[in-house]
Amino acid sequence: MSNRMPRTLHGGLEHCSVNTATLGHREPLRITVDRIARAGFGSIAPWRSEVEGCDVQAIARQIREAGLGVSGYCRSTYIPALEVAQFRANVESNRRALHDAAVLGARCFVMVVGGIPAGSRDLAGARAQVHDAVADLLHLAKAVGVPLALEPLHPVYAANRSVLNTLGQALEWCQIIDPEQSGYLGVAIDAYHCWWDPQLTACVAQAGKAKRILAFHVCDWLHDTQDVLLDRGMMGDGVIDLAGLRHLVEAAGYAGAVEVEIFSKDNWWKKDIDDVLRVCADRLQTVC
Ligand code: ZN
Repeated sequence: MSNRMPRTLHGGLEHCSVNTATLGHREPLRITVDRIARAGFGSIAPWRSEVEGCDVQAIARQIREAGLGVSGYCRSTYIPALEVAQFRANVESNRRALHDAAVLGARCFVMVVGGIPAGSRDLAGARAQVHDAVADLLHLAKAVGVPLALEPLHPVYAANRSVLNTLGQALEWCQIIDPEQSGYLGVAIDAYHCWWDPQLTACVAQAGKAKRILAFHVCDWLHDTQDVLLDRGMMGDGVIDLAGLRHLVEAAGYAGAVEVEIFSKDNWWKKDIDDVLRVCADRLQTVC
């Protein structure tokens, strides 16, 4: 695997996916699906807010008929809670989402695990709750045929979004929860969250060896980021060596989609949607 040649993305948009958040959730999913297909991408990653309450079968059919794959389904309900009843409700919400992910034919269910519940200082407890929930959800993941992709988030989000913060930590959890490497528990490697990690090269290789890489998300970290949540950069506009990272991920055996995921309230979310897709396509092929 380590001597596998890196793919070229030039002329290879079919290997690329658009996470619908990139377009700012300004239009109904049925319109977004057509735009992404028309722009030449091979897959889409929709969000639950666009899917839930709609006819999921019909959405799945439209995506299929547009010729798109589903690189991931975003994302889990945060798990840690102060009260057991709330914890159970969070797990239950994720169970429902996993069923929808199966209908959509998603390659994985993206798990952003949640931070420390407001009012708590129990980081270890929050992490233990996530362990328990993921172990529980793994049974359903196997039953419905949709792998769980744990997405470590940059540590700046440890309080309010994710107590899972590095790829190494995610791999450790995978090994504890799923030592048999069932194929139903792995990681989503998001360049934005992982680029700074001195262990990244070693961990990507380790993830590949364990066949845990389920998704690869790209955007850029702007040198002078204004808002860590909503000021992600377009590929090529920031500090991340995206081509280098993609080569690492693919040399480790990942053959799935390269998914663009840009949250950019004051910039890309204000631009014409087809223009954003054109720039994404261009940057994927020239800088990723
Ligand atoms: Zn991501």
